Amino acid sequence: MIIVMDKGATKGQLEEILTRIEGYGLEPHVIVGVARTVIGIVGDKNGLEPDAFAGLPGVDKAVPIMAPYKLASRDAKHEDTVVQVGNVAIGGEELVFIAGPCAIESQDQILETAHAIKAAGATMLRGGAFKPRTSPYSFQGLGELGLRLLAEAGRATDLPVISEVIEPGDVELVAQYVDVLQIGARNMQNFSLLRKVGQMQVPVLLKRGLAATIEEWLMAAEYIMSEGNYQVILCERGIRTYETATRNTLDVAAIALARRLSHLPVIADPSHATGQVDLVAPAGCAAIAAGAQGLMVEVHPDPNSALSDGPQSLTPLEFTKMVHQVHRVANAVKQNISEYGHHERQVV
Ligand code: PEP
Ligand code: MN
Repeated sequence: MIIVMDKGATKGQLEEILTRIEGYGLEPHVIVGVARTVIGIVGDKNGLEPDAFAGLPGVDKAVPIMAPYKLASRDAKHEDTVVQVGNVAIGGEELVFIAGPCAIESQDQILETAHAIKAAGATMLRGGAFKPRTSPYSFQGLGELGLRLLAEAGRATDLPVISEVIEPGDVELVAQYVDVLQIGARNMQNFSLLRKVGQMQVPVLLKRGLAATIEEWLMAAEYIMSEGNYQVILCERGIRTYETATRNTLDVAAIALARRLSHLPVIADPSHATGQVDLVAPAGCAAIAAGAQGLMVEVHPDPNSALSDGPQSLTPLEFTKMVHQVHRVANAVKQNISEYGHHERQVV
């Protein structure tokens, strides 16, 4: 259930409602929107009905949320969430480009990439230090050394950085070096990891699982939010289908649907979605046309020598061209991003 506070509700009235909720042994989640404040009540409500709050001072209405995800739902918060990372706003008017190598390999490699992607218009640097590789014999990443090199390259170029964390026990370590924690597709339902990043006050990029439904993906976001971390960014990165010609299948409609069902920012990763360098830009353009608010793209100064995911990594020049192309698509569709949550037509 959510309790929507009046536009003019006072702090005291809000406190009063929170105390009342706690009195029922329930946990309130306060979501402060631009126009009004909403309180999400999640968990087993033991038969508590919205009527218990209707008419109380400062309360506009109390409504049940039908979807199994509550805090992540558009019903809980009508307007788009913007996740602020340094001076980069994810989910706002501007598209965000997160770029960098699959894995951090050396200081030269990450620094060269950072300068190149910044020049191309990227606003955040990515790089894996703990790699969830399909084979235990493949390069597993540089670990903490990689994180240090990533953070240094971010500082040298004034770009915030993002890296994947694969174990609950590493979350605090990774958070010391990065601005955004990445949860990879293989860990989307690693619930102890989700809870742990939910206890941090660091934005989380949540990739969709290899074979996860949209509901499972949003439930994974709910795990993080239910721990108190509302700074979640969703990332569609392709799902497993019968098709083997591409690495995964980019689920373009899922992008538009996730925008409708959730207020969280949605971006796409056309690199892992396709696995092939020449498909990255077309898939990225399609994602943006469908409403993605940014892209995460693998870029390597010398893809042929990359220790991981070379075949899908763009050179800096290819990335530069892609950014131009994507901007042309964005301008052509002139998507009014906020419209995604306002689709009023009843489907009968
Ligand atoms: C990655 O972004 O480095 C990665 C491993 O992606 P995914 O979790 O989507 O496979
Ligand atoms: Mn990769």
